[in-house]
Amino acid sequence: MIEDINFPSGSIKCLDKGFVRLVDSMGGDNAIVQAARVSYGKGTTKKSQDRGLIRYLMRHRHSTPFEMVEFKFHAKMPIFVARQWVRHRTANINEYSLRYSEARDDFYFPEFENIKFQSSINKQGRGKQVSKKIREKVINYFKEISNRSFEIYDELNNDGVARELARAILPVNLYTEWYWKNDLHNLLHFIGLRSDSHAQYEIQVYSDAMSLSVKNVAPFAWEAYEDYRISGMYFSKLDQDIFKKNLPNRILNDIIEDINYQLIATMNEIKPRKEDDLFNLYVEQGGEDIKEDFIIKWNSGKINKSNIRELKELKQKINKMKK
Ligand SMILES: Cc1cc2nc3c(=O)[nH]c(=O)nc-3n(C[C@H](O)[C@H](O)[C@H](O)COP(=O)(O)OP(=O)(O)OC[C@H]3O[C@@H](n4cnc5c(N)ncnc54)[C@H](O)[C@@H]3O)c2cc1C
Repeated sequence: MIEDINFPSGSIKCLDKGFVRLVDSMGGDNAIVQAARVSYGKGTTKKSQDRGLIRYLMRHRHSTPFEMVEFKFHAKMPIFVARQWVRHRTANINEYSLRYSEARDDFYFPEFENIKFQSSINKQGRGKQVSKKIREKVINYFKEISNRSFEIYDELNNDGVARELARAILPVNLYTEWYWKNDLHNLLHFIGLRSDSHAQYEIQVYSDAMSLSVKNVAPFAWEAYEDYRISGMYFSKLDQDIFKKNLPNRILNDIIEDINYQLIATMNEIKPRKEDDLFNLYVEQGGEDIKEDFIIKWNSGKINKSNIRELKELKQKINKMKK
């Protein structure tokens, strides 16, 4: 089979003519836990424990084990996207050289639905849809400038003008290509910034495509990243003061009680206990219900299970909020 040079095998199409493809990767979830256990001492190697350790590392920003996983991408993107991308300084890059090779007639033309007005609330973003007339005008100008500049570039090349100079006539919607290698920690940092809704649409497309590779190569790390970075929330001191003021201790105590039950259910799932032992465990965790009430609640329905460390940390945080 002859490979399409515009979309090499394994590429994810991005924008109208671009792509990103994972060329190579080193390590995965295993490499993260292997490295972490060097610092924490040898541990168990069950999959569920690997997942718990990765979540712990992500939660506590113990980031160096995530640097043990490497990704090498081949990407083709417009130059104005590459300019934003290159700001991420921890990557290794090798780019297609327009000093050495001739430019190709590959320009980015935005899709109709992505041609929008300047946002009125965000100086760095797009707002509402423009009219059909403006959309057509935008596309026509993109095409006019791209075609004309390429004609001139071609002419200068044929005249023997140095490629390194002739290229300066080309606009930033010209596509370029590079190999880009980075480790998982810094790739997640990139994705956090560039898949965010505040990032420019065109780079979001590439960032989202790369995140699929992370999900395949290191699924536990991706899951932890989604839970703690994407869906996680950070509360400033001001936010916490509002909670302290508005959440009375009785509500916080109720939440802590729920957590105690979840803790016991989780511990019991890992190592099943007799009913008497369960109640003792509950008391050890700070539970305040009497045994009769404990039995009623325990038997009354499904108690959510979670992660023991996470539940204990949540309990500590809620305790801190008490007046
Ligand atoms: C929505 C958005 C809007 C932006 N707007 C602008 C803009 O208007 N103008 C503009 O110039 N840029 C802009 N940027 C780019 C931005 O300022 C950063 O340069 C870019 O996001 C790379 O982030 P970084 O430095 O954290 O990443 P990386 O370079 O990948 O670095 C990762 C981390 O490594 C550390 N690090 C790396 N190198 C150094 C170093 N030399 N010294 C100290 N620590 C280092 C830092 O902790 C850094 O966070 C924007 C970015 C976004 C996402």
